[in-house]
Amino acid sequence: MDIHKDHLSKNLSQRDQKHLWHPLTQHKLSPQMLAIVKAKGAILYDDAGKEYIDGIASWYTAMYGHCNPYITEKVSRQMQELDQVVFSGFTHEPAIRLSEVLMEILPGNQEKIFFSDNGSTATEIGIKMALQYHHNLGSGRNVMLAFEEGFHGDTFGAMSVSGLSVYNGAFEEHFIKVIRIPVPNGNNNLKVLQQLENLISQYKIAGFIYEPLVQGAAAMKMHDAAGLNEILKMCRENEIICVADEVMTGFGKTGKNFASEFMEVQPDIICLSKALTAGLLPMAITSCSQKIYDAFYSDEISKGLFHGHTYSANPLACTAAIAGIELLASEDIQKNIQDVINSHRDFGNKIVTHPRVKNLRQLGVILAFDLDIKMERYGNLRNRLFTHFMDAGVFLRPLGNTIYILAPFTVNPSELNKIYESIETALELFQ
Ligand SMILES: *Cc1c(COP(=O)(O)O)cnc(C)c1O
Repeated sequence: MDIHKDHLSKNLSQRDQKHLWHPLTQHKLSPQMLAIVKAKGAILYDDAGKEYIDGIASWYTAMYGHCNPYITEKVSRQMQELDQVVFSGFTHEPAIRLSEVLMEILPGNQEKIFFSDNGSTATEIGIKMALQYHHNLGSGRNVMLAFEEGFHGDTFGAMSVSGLSVYNGAFEEHFIKVIRIPVPNGNNNLKVLQQLENLISQYKIAGFIYEPLVQGAAAMKMHDAAGLNEILKMCRENEIICVADEVMTGFGKTGKNFASEFMEVQPDIICLSKALTAGLLPMAITSCSQKIYDAFYSDEISKGLFHGHTYSANPLACTAAIAGIELLASEDIQKNIQDVINSHRDFGNKIVTHPRVKNLRQLGVILAFDLDIKMERYGNLRNRLFTHFMDAGVFLRPLGNTIYILAPFTVNPSELNKIYESIETALELFQ
């Protein structure tokens, strides 16, 4: 057992390097990982005691603040009652209650929810639902439609429909059939519609998967609600199943509970994860309308959706999700959301005329802009920006030259100001 004493002489970052393989990381080019030992509210604490404001809510999950006592209390109580049980053949109160509270806030046409573990599986299931819907109907449709530059996750179906294929090169020959259209930006709406019309006449399109209004991984790129609505309308008229990937946009971040509420035409299928469980536990949901469910409901077993994950509807994750939705519906959190929206608007107005601020954009609590600096000064810009923010005690994760804020709803004004100040300093430092 001597090897187990090794840890006494090494810090966490050193021990990490021995056996851990991190996500989205080229280890040969990456520095050591920073060890985080504690998180509370909007603050992360590293193993040297330094504090960082979590300006991206740990990938948009911990929207009610880290270790929120309202949520942790409920989950710890659930932990004493029922930890885990098979969800095929069994059911339980947390899953049932979650379905009830979700139905109260989801767009009105949603009727059924299907559980999985993460955002990628949520979209994978959404894609499978759309494809099998048409398979069950015998319509012969087998192509997915997606936006250019979309991101829907890292499993095969999700990778296939993602437009950011820089990292997917090794797998391209195994992808499902996908065609793409640009996002509607307000100026190109008609052109995109015409392109879609052409594609519809050429391909047997089963479903359309899209991130409504904000493409997170494409650097918080935002598009036009009226244009998206027209696309959804054309899809609906042509029996193309609309799959909204609200993994990032869901649960209040856009100022509405779901980004889909900005459009008239509601999706047939909605994918949820990230803030679903308020940053506590991994879980995802793919919801759908009665029409979708009915196409699987049959005397023939093979028409069912034969997809299932061992931890489906884990009672602890369901409990965290219920508590999160209760908070989202509370007056306090709704006020927090408005305060962050107003504060971002003021800050946006302050920096919008700065010569290095380009494409300033805001939807709800999401604020983003592109740093406009000379091309020859780009080298390693993203990493230099990241280091600048971390040194200032602010955890932001710039995407290329895009700087964005997506802090917990509960971030307080002085924390917000610290984020803003670190950005203003960056505007002067990086020219
Ligand atoms: C994060 C994300 C996913 C993937 O979710 P994971 O839990 O990381 O697998 C899918 N779609 C969108 C829009 C996302 O932001």
